[in-house]
Amino acid sequence: METSTVKAFGTEAAEAPLNQMNIQRRKPTPHDIEIDILFCGVCHSDLHTARSEWGAAMYPCVPGHEIVGKVISIGNHVSKFKVGDIVGVGCMVDSCRECQYCKEGLEQFCEPGMTGTYNSPDKFLQDMPTFGGYSESVVVDENYVLHIPENLDVAATAPLLCAGITTYSPLKHWNVGPGKKVGVVGIGGLGHMGIKIAKAMGAYVVAFTTSESKFAEAQRLGADEVVLSKDPEQMKKFTGQLHFILDAVSAQHDINAYLSLLKVDGSLALVGAPEQPLPVAAFSIIIGRKSFAGSMIGGIAETQEMLDFCGENNITADIEMIDINQINDAYERLLSGDVKYRFVIDMASLKN
Ligand code: NAP
Ligand code: ZN
Ligand code: ZN
Repeated sequence: METSTVKAFGTEAAEAPLNQMNIQRRKPTPHDIEIDILFCGVCHSDLHTARSEWGAAMYPCVPGHEIVGKVISIGNHVSKFKVGDIVGVGCMVDSCRECQYCKEGLEQFCEPGMTGTYNSPDKFLQDMPTFGGYSESVVVDENYVLHIPENLDVAATAPLLCAGITTYSPLKHWNVGPGKKVGVVGIGGLGHMGIKIAKAMGAYVVAFTTSESKFAEAQRLGADEVVLSKDPEQMKKFTGQLHFILDAVSAQHDINAYLSLLKVDGSLALVGAPEQPLPVAAFSIIIGRKSFAGSMIGGIAETQEMLDFCGENNITADIEMIDINQINDAYERLLSGDVKYRFVIDMASLKN
């Protein structure tokens, strides 16, 4: 397979910092699009993976699955995009296309397994993992590329490709809308999108944060009420009040405290993916016939639907732009909750 050498930023081992490296990208095949990457969001999953916190990371690891860029070339069978289009790539770049779930538009649950944008076996380059968006360019099959609404700021749209769809999909699945009281837990990259999207869907939104510094801002993001989750008195006020809770916390926390805030038949969906199991007490769900659930990103068609919804409602992420050489520092800041609310890498800083 013919390849080109591309500059990227990644790591060789779980304990090593990210550094500049060269990677190989396949030359576009007939169904491929070559994308010059303009911006890439920094998801907490990038950090979990680079440091092998979920196990089984493949090295070298080039993270990044919130990609926006410009189409610079297309294969001769490409019909959905043209050179010059501003496009997005999220968490997956391929799937089997034949299983029950691929056919239903749930490619993220593809039975043989979806191909992640990074850290998956590359179907084209033998014995190589896929490499993500912390790089100059990427080559992706057109069926896994998204159209970006023209009215949205390009850099602030990048986080929609993971944080946007990961919150939109469960909010929609659990019928969040007018008349529903919804909790969003953890106001990071995912959580702040969850607040904005739940509000735009018409719900009454209650934000839960451990950070006093985010208290006032959560209201600006769209929350109707904000709770400092460390304060049991503030938590108690919401006992049995919420129809649905979206939990976007990246670390250990007490799930039972949140299950107690659900109404009868309420559901809590986990999108945050902490390293360690989260113990659930039987009586936290038995009483009130509650559901403890999970959700992972969303399918390709649903991701486009989310982008169009965000275009119509003028929703983008609140971002802090960084240069690529600030990435290791950005990871430390993610761990201390010091981001409002998504780092986005200006990829010009890698190219120059
Ligand atoms: P993030 O920006 O770092 O936000 C996580 C938030 O969790 C923090 O801002 C903080 O919010 C809260 N938090 C952090 N440590 C905490 C602790 N010890 N106790 C309580 N709260 C704590 O991360 P993200 O990018 O939004 O990702 C969140 C999680 O979702 C990660 O685990 C990520 O891997 C996962 N994820 C899952 C999917 C999926 O498909 N399911 C997709 C993308 C990401 P406050 O300051 O407001 O408390
Ligand atoms: Zn992500
Ligand atoms: Zn499949």
